[in-house]
Amino acid sequence: MVEIFDELGYKKQTCKTCGQEFYSQVDRDTCGDAPCDEYEFIANPATDKPYNLYEIQKVFREFLESEGHTHVHRYPVLAKRWRDDVFLVGASIFCFQPWITSGLVKPPANPIEMAQPSIRLNDVDNVGRTGRHMTCFTMGTHTVINKEDDFIYWEDRTIELCHKFFEHIGINTEEITFIKSWWSGGGNEGPCYEVCCRGVELATLVFIQYETLENGDKKEIPIKVVDTGYGLERIAWISQGTPTAYDACFAPVVDKLKELTGVEINEDIQGRNAQIAGMMDIEDIGDLKELRQQVADSLNLSLEDYLKAAEPMEAIYIIADHTRCLAFMIADGIIPSNVKEGYLARLVLRRTIRFMKDLNMKESLADVMAIQLDFLSKFYPEIRDSEEHIMNIITLEEERYAATVKKGKSI
Ligand SMILES: [Zn+2]
Repeated sequence: MVEIFDELGYKKQTCKTCGQEFYSQVDRDTCGDAPCDEYEFIANPATDKPYNLYEIQKVFREFLESEGHTHVHRYPVLAKRWRDDVFLVGASIFCFQPWITSGLVKPPANPIEMAQPSIRLNDVDNVGRTGRHMTCFTMGTHTVINKEDDFIYWEDRTIELCHKFFEHIGINTEEITFIKSWWSGGGNEGPCYEVCCRGVELATLVFIQYETLENGDKKEIPIKVVDTGYGLERIAWISQGTPTAYDACFAPVVDKLKELTGVEINEDIQGRNAQIAGMMDIEDIGDLKELRQQVADSLNLSLEDYLKAAEPMEAIYIIADHTRCLAFMIADGIIPSNVKEGYLARLVLRRTIRFMKDLNMKESLADVMAIQLDFLSKFYPEIRDSEEHIMNIITLEEERYAATVKKGKSI
């Protein structure tokens, strides 16, 4: 039974739109998540001061350290180094599966605070186009590995920490909702809360306590894991109220690319786009077409005129996003190739080159990567250590790609 909601003044309510149960300090009709609520932070920041991505990482770390957590440095994005079921780290919990979550290996600390770069390529087509999707995002987490004889904390303390963190960064907690839900994945399940503010989900608090059996039943597991994920890019975004999360998180890279290409970002178009995209579940190209039509209509533009204006801006965002993802991939040991994780790196790399071509950029991919590394390595010194390696791989791959394209053309 969760008692903390009562203590913090949150009341149980039901969303009149989607029917989900949620907790809020004030009476409200809707649950706070899109599409029940619209994005209400663009040009209207939700915190009392703006944070860039690295500032929010620092504040997150310091807050949790002051609350008894130990900081753990990020893991490599190449999950294959310690597990054989996935290639890439898609969430912070991937770092602790299966060895630590099963109890075979002791956790590096407990409870843990970490900011883990996580890569998800399943909706790569949305990147740059929805204002919020990224190939690589930073999952802030406070993770707890609870054993029967060493039980650290569970739902009440987790919810309390989440509430206090958002309060700490100046979010009015009356704008926060905790939506009750159920999480399952990788053979485990348990209750969870999606934490939303102004139409956007900022964190998910998962309490892994069951094993999912083959017949669908569930069995209590001895090691119970608190697995929280804070979308640090999104938190930086709502703190700045920029038109897109890309502007909030890699502004220096976006600015340099704008300078090189002469592309201007139209904030009205991008803000409107992100707002409408926020209301939609964009799963395929059809949904993306629908989004573009809706944005064009809302701006009173023909689809053609809208695309002509939006596509160069989107290409800038895509290049900024993809080079960051590639930098982590290559620094952490992935070599582009035609198989497995190498194929994923090649896909991201070739997409980057294609969007650079769309913008008629004369610079090489290595030139653009240098901009990204300059930005990224300030916060990840290990990336600076891999700079030469990354540049060598990038240059070789770009030559290979040019040769392949040339060969294709002559055929
Ligand atoms: Zn709802």
